[in-house]
Amino acid sequence: MVKTEKIKVKTKGNCDIVNITEQVGEVVAESAVRDGTVTLFNVGSTAGITTTEYEPGLVNYDIKAAFEKIAPENARYEHEETWHDDNGHAHVRASLLGPSLSVPVVGGRLTLGTWQQIILVDFDTRPRTRTVICQILGE
Ligand code: ZN
Repeated sequence: MVKTEKIKVKTKGNCDIVNITEQVGEVVAESAVRDGTVTLFNVGSTAGITTTEYEPGLVNYDIKAAFEKIAPENARYEHEETWHDDNGHAHVRASLLGPSLSVPVVGGRLTLGTWQQIILVDFDTRPRTRTVICQILGE
């Protein structure tokens, strides 16, 4: 069976990292699927989805610092010449992180590690309400 749900995620923008593990777990639990895969997909090109150990060092400092090195906020971006906006770095970061994540579901539960949490990282330069598609495929 295939079940498709949406979850809404409020963010502050500017590399805000939001733990969406609980919301995803609820969607999986409410589906009748015991074994299969959940695919998560962020709609939009300035945020991405991955996993991390959700602790203050990584969440408040290390991940943001890494993205600032890879695609600095104050560098020059051709995208900003195209649209006269300010989020070239957000697009580059989101492209590198990727918009989606697949997690195996076994026995109706996400097969995450003990400290592994699913995060949405919003790189845009303003608060946003994100839509994440959760598509559960299995039986
Ligand atoms: Zn833009």
